[in-house]
Amino acid sequence: MANLDINRVRKSYGRHEVLKEVNISVGDGDFLVLLGPSGCGKSTLLNIIAGLEDITDGEVLIGDRLVNDLPPKDRDIAMVFQSYALYPTMTVRQNIEFGMKIRGVPAEERAKATEAAAEMLQMSTLLDRKPSQLSGGQRQRVAMGRAIVRHPELFLFDEPLSNLDAKLRVDMRTEIKRLHQRLGATIVYVTHDQIEAMTLATKVAVMKDGIVQHFGAPQEVYDRPANTYVARFVGSPAMNIIPGRLLNSDGAPTVAFDTPNGEALISGVTLSPEVARDFAGREVLVGIRPEHFSLDGEGVVPVGVDIVEPTGPDTLVVFSAGGTEVVARLDPVELGIGEQVRFAVKADKVVLFDPKTETRLD
Ligand code: ADP
Ligand code: MG
Repeated sequence: MANLDINRVRKSYGRHEVLKEVNISVGDGDFLVLLGPSGCGKSTLLNIIAGLEDITDGEVLIGDRLVNDLPPKDRDIAMVFQSYALYPTMTVRQNIEFGMKIRGVPAEERAKATEAAAEMLQMSTLLDRKPSQLSGGQRQRVAMGRAIVRHPELFLFDEPLSNLDAKLRVDMRTEIKRLHQRLGATIVYVTHDQIEAMTLATKVAVMKDGIVQHFGAPQEVYDRPANTYVARFVGSPAMNIIPGRLLNSDGAPTVAFDTPNGEALISGVTLSPEVARDFAGREVLVGIRPEHFSLDGEGVVPVGVDIVEPTGPDTLVVFSAGGTEVVARLDPVELGIGEQVRFAVKADKVVLFDPKTETRLD
C-alpha cells in the first residue's frame, strides 16, 4: 500500500479549467473521500490519479513515485466504477480471475486469490453464477473482488454505490468500511453523499468548482468547517448560519443575534484573543449545528416555534433568527406551534465566519 500526494494539480479542457491547484496528501492506509456536488471535478481528479486523464500542470505521486507519465497499467492501482463493467458471459469466478489470467498468474494461484476475495466479500456461494443472476449489490461485490485480487497500491472508487437503492447502499457502505479495515488499503473514494464521506473517510477533501475548499479529518471538517460552503454541505440538517455580531468584551467572547422574540446572547465562544479583538463590534456569521441547541441549561436564545418535526430519535424545531430559518435538533419533545421557549447553546461548538469572505474566523 502507499501514500498519495497530489501537488498543485491543474486540469483544463480547452479554456475550461476544471481543477484549480489541487493539493492533497494522504498516508499509507488512509481512506480519502473526494466529496462535492456533481460537476465539481471529483471524477476528473480520480481519473488523473488513475492515469486515464492527462494532467495540465502539477504532479501525482503514488508511494513517493512520480506517476505523471506512467500509463494506468503501470501505476499499481485498481479502480471500481459506478457501472461495474462485468463480462456478462463469464461467471463471477471468471470475472474475478480474468485480470490475473491476462497477467499470466498460474491457475492454482488464481483460484486461491479468488476464493480468498470471495470469502472476504461474503460471496463464496456466488462464484459460479453469471452477472445476470446477481443483484446490484452482488455485482458491486464482484467488481470489488476483481480489484482486491490485484493487491494494488491504491484502490480508486468512483461513486460505487450510487446505483444501489438506499438500504443496500448502507449495507455496502459497511462492507467497504470492513474491507478497508481488513486490507489496510489506501483508498480514494468519490461521492457526492456527505454521509458516505463522514462514515468512510479518514480524510475528506470537500470540493467546489475544481477547488478543494477544506481538506482534513471528517470530524474536523464537521466541527470547524473552513467556510460557509463546507459548513452547509457537510451535515444534515445543515449547519445554521445566522447573521449576528461579535460584542466588545474583555472576558469570554460573546455573540449576539436578533430573533422576533428578543436578542440571543451566547457567551464563551471559542475564539483566539487576536481575532476576538479584531472583530469586536463587527458583524459576523454565527454557525450553530442543529444538535447544539437544547432545552437543558441556560436558555440564551429566545425562540418562537414555527414548525415541529418529530423524526423518531429526535425532534427538529424550526424557528426564525437573524432573519433566517434556523433548525434545532432536540431530544424528543412536545412543543406547540407558536410556543415561546428559550434554547441553550453549546457555546464552545459555535463557529464564526467573516460575512465578507464567508471563511471561518480563526
Ligand atoms: P464530478 O465527477 O465531480 O461530477 P467531473 O470531474 O466529471 O465532475 O467534471 C468536472 C467538470 O469537467 C464538469 O464541468 C465537466 O463538464 C467537465 N468535463 C469532464 N470531462 C470533460 C471532457 N472530457 N471534456 C470537457 N469537459 C469535461
Ligand atoms: Mg463524477
